[in-house]
Amino acid sequence: MPEKAPSRVEVLSASTLRDYATGAYYVKIDCAFCQVKRFYEPVDLLQLCGNISVRQIAKQFRCEQCKRKDYLTADLVSPPSRELVGMSVRRLTEIRIIRKPIWKDVKI
Ligand SMILES: [Zn+2]
Repeated sequence: MPEKAPSRVEVLSASTLRDYATGAYYVKIDCAFCQVKRFYEPVDLLQLCGNISVRQIAKQFRCEQCKRKDYLTADLVSPPSRELVGMSVRRLTEIRIIRKPIWKDVKI
């Protein structure tokens, strides 16, 4: 018995960053609170977040202006070449591992 073909929604939710790291796509992350949008290359987000689905990206980010997470949305865009001229893309230059001490008080 053949398996049921996946619906379009299931296909979209299954698409991960690696599927779009071809150079033709960008991930647009919007903050609805600050009205700020930034564009990222999927290959950079893949390095930072792993091979997650496009729908999960916004949860990994925090707005740099308002520091909120709940107003962010991430969309995959493939702008026509005329819109790429002069478009600002945020590229990953470095990932810093920050050492953060966690303390607890103990009775002696
Ligand atoms: Zn914001």
